Parts: sequence; C-alpha cells; structure tokens
Amino acid sequence: MESLRGVGPALAGRLARLGLQRVADLLFHLPLRYEDRTRVVPIAALRVGATALVEGEVIRAEVRVTRRRMLLVCVADRSGALWLRFFHFNARQQAGFRAGVRLWCFGEVRRGPTGLEMVHPEYRLLPEGAAAPREARLRAIYPTTEGVSQRVLQGLVHQALDRLDRQPEALRDWLAGRLPGWPGLREALEQLHRPPPGRRWAAPAAADSPARRRLAFEELLAHHLSLRQLRVHVHRQEALPLAGTGRLRARLLAALPFSPTPAQQRVMDEIAADLARPRPMLRLVQGDVGSGKTLVAAMAALQAAECEVQTAVMAPTELLAEQHFRSFQRWCAPLGVPVVWLSGRQRAAERRAALEALACGTARIAVGTHALFQEDVRYARLGLVIVDEQHRFGVHQRLALRDKGARGAHRPHQLTLTATPIPRTLAMALYADLDTSIIDALPPGRRPVKTAVIDDRRREEVIERVRAACRAGAQAYWVCTLIEESEALQCQAAEDTARALAERLPELRVGLVHGRMKPREKEAVMQAFEAGAVQLLVATTVIEVGVDVPNASLMIIENAERLGLAQLHQLRGRVGRGTRQSHCVLLYRAPLSAAARARLQVMRETHDGFEIARRDLELRGPGEVLGTRQTGMLQFRVADLMRDQGLLPRIQREADRLLAEAPEAARALVRRWLGARERYAHV
Ligand code: ADP
Ligand code: MG
Repeated sequence: MESLRGVGPALAGRLARLGLQRVADLLFHLPLRYEDRTRVVPIAALRVGATALVEGEVIRAEVRVTRRRMLLVCVADRSGALWLRFFHFNARQQAGFRAGVRLWCFGEVRRGPTGLEMVHPEYRLLPEGAAAPREARLRAIYPTTEGVSQRVLQGLVHQALDRLDRQPEALRDWLAGRLPGWPGLREALEQLHRPPPGRRWAAPAAADSPARRRLAFEELLAHHLSLRQLRVHVHRQEALPLAGTGRLRARLLAALPFSPTPAQQRVMDEIAADLARPRPMLRLVQGDVGSGKTLVAAMAALQAAECEVQTAVMAPTELLAEQHFRSFQRWCAPLGVPVVWLSGRQRAAERRAALEALACGTARIAVGTHALFQEDVRYARLGLVIVDEQHRFGVHQRLALRDKGARGAHRPHQLTLTATPIPRTLAMALYADLDTSIIDALPPGRRPVKTAVIDDRRREEVIERVRAACRAGAQAYWVCTLIEESEALQCQAAEDTARALAERLPELRVGLVHGRMKPREKEAVMQAFEAGAVQLLVATTVIEVGVDVPNASLMIIENAERLGLAQLHQLRGRVGRGTRQSHCVLLYRAPLSAAARARLQVMRETHDGFEIARRDLELRGPGEVLGTRQTGMLQFRVADLMRDQGLLPRIQREADRLLAEAPEAARALVRRWLGARERYAHV
C-alpha cells in the first residue's frame, strides 16, 4: 500500500481498518454510488433525490431567521430557479452572492418550502466567461472510515487503476476468454470505479451490472477454489485409521429400543469407512431435526473408542451440549466408555476432574461447548472431533478445532452435524472442503406435526388445549419469544408467562427454563420434564436446538410472526418425536405483515426442512438462512449470495475446468481474493 503516492504508515493503518491492505484490495472496494459531474443539468430537469451539477446566476441572496438563522440564495438558469440553503456561512460567503454573479453548484436536490433546493451544496463562483468544470467520468463514492476522505480514497483507487495501465501483468485476467459475453477484468474494474457518462448507473451494490457480476463470479470462484485447496491439503495429512472391531457399536445397537433407519445406516457406513482411512475424515452430515443425527455421532465415537482413541463432541449452546451429554452418557457409559462434561460455567472441582480424566486418557468421550478447546484442555489421544450445528461455527473454528487435536503428524477426524438444510448448489460452493452425507428420512412412525396459526386474542382456547392434552398424558412446550428485546426482558417475559399459566392451570406442574438460569437449575427442570414430572415447560428460545423429549406432543409458540422460518422449524422440531400425533400452535399478534403471513403459511403447509429452507431462501436470501454473521466465510467483498446464487452451479464447473487446465490460475485467484486476509494461512 505504501508504494502508492501519499500513503504513509498512518493512512495505511486507517485503510487496513477498511480491509484494504494491498493495492489490489482497493480495486475490489466497490463504490456505494456515483456522482455525475460529467454534465450540467438544466434546473427544470432536476429530479428530487438525485445529485446534480447546476450552473446559474445569482438572482438574490438573503438571510432569514425563523427558528434558525440561514442564508438563502436564489439561482436561476434559462430553464428555472433553484434555492441554495446554508445554515453555516460567514460574512465573506454571504457578500459573494451578489445578484448577477454566476456560479456552479453540486448537491442533492430536495423539495423545499418554496420549490427545489440544495442544502449546503458544494459551489464555486465563476469568473466572467468561465463554465463549470466537467469531469470525464462519473465519480465513485466509496464506503469509508474516519480519517480517510472520499477524495483520498478516490485518488488511491485511480492510482491503482492507472498502475494497471503501466503494468498489465499486475492484475492478470485469469478468466480471460472463459466468460464469453462478460466484460474482462480490466474493463469491469474501469466500469465500476470510473464509469463513462451517458449510462444510467445505479449503486453497484444494488445494481446487477455485468461488471459487478464479473467480479462477484471471480470472488465466489476464489472462495470455492480455496476450499478445494483446503480439502486437498487436508487429504494429504495423516490421521490414525480407526477401523475398530465393531464390538462396542454392535452392543449399542443391540441395546437400543429401535433400529437405525436405512438413511442413518447409510450415513453410519459412510462415516465408518472414512474413519478407517489413514487420512482425516472431513464430513458434514445434514439431517432434518429429529432425523437421528445423535445416534450417528455416537456410533462414530464408539468406533473411535474401540480403537482406544478419544472423541470430543462440541455443541454451540450449553443446553444442547447438556442434552448430548445425557444421550452419550446413556448410550456409552453402560458399555464401559466413560463420558465427561466440560463447560465454561462448570464448578472448578468438577472441571479439574474432567480435565484430569481427559489428560490421562481414562475419559473416552468429552461433551461440551467450545470450552472443549480452551488452552488448558489436554487430550491424551484425541482422534475424532464432532461438531453439532456446525453452521454456527465458522470455517476458522472448524480449522482451529482440527489443529487443536493435532498430534505429531496426525490430525483428528472431523464430523460435523447440521440441521440446517443447505441447498445443494450452495453446499457445493461453500462447503467444498467437506464430504457431505444426508439423512433424508425420519424414523418410522413419526407423523407430521399439525400446525395451526392462531390469533393471540384466542389465547384462552389455546390454554384449554394445553389442559386437555396434558390431561390425556401428553406434555407441552410454551415458547416465549421477544426477539428484539434484551435477553433479560425475554427471561422476564417467560417468568411472567409461566406464573400466569400456572395460575390458570393449577392442576398441571409447570416448569420454566431460560438463558439466565444457573446451569444446575436448568438441568433440574429439563430432567423433570424428560421424566414426565413437569407437564408444561415454559421456555425461551433456548430450547430451539436439540432438546429431545419424545412424549412432548404440543408446542405453543408466542409471537410466532416475529421469528424466521429456520427458527420456527427448529422449534417445531421439538415435537413430533414420539408416536403420538403432535400439534404446533403459532400464536401471532394481529395485524400481520405480508412477509410474516407468508412465513406462517409456509409453516402450515410444509414439514420438510429442505423445502422450508428453499422457501426461506426465496423470502430472505442465503446470507440470513445460513446465519452469515457468525460464519466468517460468507463475508464477501463483492458477491452477494442472494443476488448471485444463479452463478453457483457455474462456479463449480469453472473450478473443475480451471483446476484441470490452469492450476496456476486457480492458485493466483485464491491469493488475489483471500491472500491478504490470511484466512487459510495456517493450512
Ligand atoms: P436430531 O437429528 O434432530 O439431532 P436426534 O438425534 O435428537 O435428532 O433424534 C431424535 C429422536 O429420535 C431421539 O429421541 C432419538 O433417540 C430418536 N431416534 C433416533 N434414531 C431413531 C430410529 N432409527 N428410530 C426411532 N427413533 C430414533
Ligand atoms: Mg440434534
């Protein structure tokens, strides 16, 4: 960066805050919008909201004092008149606006009390016979940060572009000739940063110009290629082959009250084969809520245990981790496979004991939150890492986990589980480093949850329904949601609701779980609910993932209109796990927005997670569907998954071709787009 004129360490530091570290980064820093200073617009042709360059003659200027003191200048050209309004001005400025003086001004046109106006426009008085300076290209306006002015940023981008003229190799078009009908790289950059006049240029972030699409394609391709590289790299690493004897797995299956579904069996076989290889497994298991991913994970852990190797099972929340702990404990401990629990909120003595057991190898399975991978956790022989709900962890964390388990040349195998069905093209483009398995069927006997959408004013009826269901031996969830408020308020609301429901339903035992309770209290309530001692469980959305109580067959979700489809689907997945017909009531507060109505309608119509994800994608876009904010890998500079999803299939094909025909181009593209961030630097 400092090779550019005017860039010293201080400015370079500020640019770095914008993610601009290399000269090439400037070129991929796209403008928010453009200013057209290429032509003078007649006042009569001005449009409200647009910015424009105007040339005219001062008719009069006056200081007016209403609530604030201001200077008003009336400017006219042959077509009409325009007011300039200044709240800050000095005497010299004021004196300059003599009637008959000519000037140019540039600003946003607004509708004022007496006609069109510009507030604090940029302006210059024009000497006799002079005209407003016109620029050859549209002027780009960039996202910027404190201490970096538009003018500086514009100048730097121009320098970077000009340098390309002198050193065309500096930013080689690796895709030249591969994208017929699209602009080349240079052309695309010129069009985006300094478009020629005469075309309508909307904000490039919003506009789907071929130039922007050209860059988006390249960026998505670079991401995809980087994941493929990562995969090749990982496959060159060694892992302990964990074929196992099958002894523990057979005993678990024999002890279960059910047998695995064919879908589970297929995925278990795929995993078993992966684990038996001397290179690290990298597998993503997708399965709708309730499809039985936990069993698949437990079987993998037992295979590792058969080889006297440890497994770490990580979940994103305490509640989910606790649930897994109980399942693993129930299934594995009776087979003589010790399971320990690790969490951030654990008592010191308990934690010490768990750490000790892991370090000396007596514990074979560790279940917990990311506490599993803190500095002080040592594993005697970690061979398998299982991550549940992986989309909540970014690619970095995925890699960090793998590194944590490295022993000499050996990396642990890695299995990730997700209930977020990822549409196929997206998965191929964005999880290209992983093998994927899909559990595409639910255990037998599950009946789809019947879903009703009910106005909150009919709450009484719903309460009666809870009473009747529980009287018939079922259990129910009542989920309180208040999404945009604080967690504290949400917990408060759940407490109030629990109290009110307990009063209205005195014959029922009502339990409460929320995020602010102590883990022990939470666990006690969950256990009581699992054991059937609590019939109605009032909860915040903490129960969203993983809670598994098959006897619960009724779920009420308050303010359902405020939740997204993925969340509603996850919540609803808590019921319909037993053989009893389950019901879900989505309570809403009228009036419903069109979007909320559409979401609730989808919930009523479908139960299939993939279909719901597809509809969600339509309604909201992929970024949100995948929970981008947490997943570092989805932060693109140019690409937008919503707008560019149509490019994804083609990216896969182009990547195949490039890797076969021009592997050096593939490497160069990855360096160009991802190099500076050192995202995958450690692999
Ligand atoms: P998820 O995929 O959402 O994590 P779970 O692993 O929690 O699903 O499984 C949901 C429920 O289904 C659990 O109670 C589990 O014991 C049960 N289950 C898993 N596999 C089967 C099967 N093959 N037949 C019947 N029940 C099963
Ligand atoms: Mg689960």
